[in-house]
Amino acid sequence: MIIVMKSGSTQEQVEAVERKLRDLGFQTHPIYGEVKTVIGAVGDKRLVKPHSIIHMDGVENIVPIMSPYKLVGRELISEDTIIDVDGVPIGGKELAVMAGPCAVESEEQLMEAAVKIKETGAKILRGGAFKPRTSPYSFQGLEEEGLKLLAQVGKETGLKIVTEVVDTRDVELVSQYADILQIGARSMQNFRLLSECGKADKPVLLKRGLSATIEEWLMAAEYILSAGNPNVILCERGIRTFETATRNTLDINAIPVVKERSHLPIIVDPSHATGNWRWVEAAAKASIAAGADGLMIEVHPDPSSATSDGQQSLKPEKFVELIKALKPIAQAVNRTI
Ligand code: PEP
Ligand code: MN
Repeated sequence: MIIVMKSGSTQEQVEAVERKLRDLGFQTHPIYGEVKTVIGAVGDKRLVKPHSIIHMDGVENIVPIMSPYKLVGRELISEDTIIDVDGVPIGGKELAVMAGPCAVESEEQLMEAAVKIKETGAKILRGGAFKPRTSPYSFQGLEEEGLKLLAQVGKETGLKIVTEVVDTRDVELVSQYADILQIGARSMQNFRLLSECGKADKPVLLKRGLSATIEEWLMAAEYILSAGNPNVILCERGIRTFETATRNTLDINAIPVVKERSHLPIIVDPSHATGNWRWVEAAAKASIAAGADGLMIEVHPDPSSATSDGQQSLKPEKFVELIKALKPIAQAVNRTI
């Protein structure tokens, strides 16, 4: 970090700051300018509380150089992370496709979706057993029965399972059935849940919060990594803006920004980002073109009867068409699907 001294700060003040920093284990490198002096401090910023320096005489400002997300950022790990979900890679050349209904409703519904999804070569089945609904009167999910159906269909089809966990008390239970634990947008800043998933032995799919900045999202991922779980997949799912024509606004910018700042894989959920099945294909194509490592897409055998998110769910045959339409885009950016 850099400590910027006020114009006219005295030599004694500069030396006092340097002494304080050295006591905290930093190396200091003062640069004396015509008007201002700055002190370069090299060391572990986690050891210093900014207020212990900012109140010292002559100090104007503290400018961090390292990102606050040490484990998620590229400073310590520069190589892209490829997460191995029991033989299915996420983050490599092959795009990861996760698809399935918003909510698990029945064995028939899940199996019908899964069979078609599998046909396309997609390897991961999604489905919510615990649904974080905006209204307490909406369908809340089949809970453990839904988890059992997911595990059963996963076993029969060979698809890996990703499903949401909404409560710290359920992390162990969901881990018994799922291959990937999903943390939903509404839970992105549930720090206890993040830490609990950080102790789990399953990869975590971390969706971006409805109004979260990229930094807040990466800090949420940092909670999981710092609790011991290095396997985090980020998922951009649209953010809330003034625009009401779509359910959310897909932040395409987030893809290159996250890629630059973090080594973790990032996928996109164009279903929740657009809120309308007709716009899912365009948003999915744009995401792949922009460098996303995969997609999460809602697919329902009969969207008109879905208990949640039917308006944005693709019919299985439309999903098959979507995957075909994505192939040339993937090829253009040197990926496979
Ligand atoms: C979901 O994946 O069905 C879901 C609830 O998504 P989000 O958390 O992004 O709203
Ligand atoms: Mn949904």
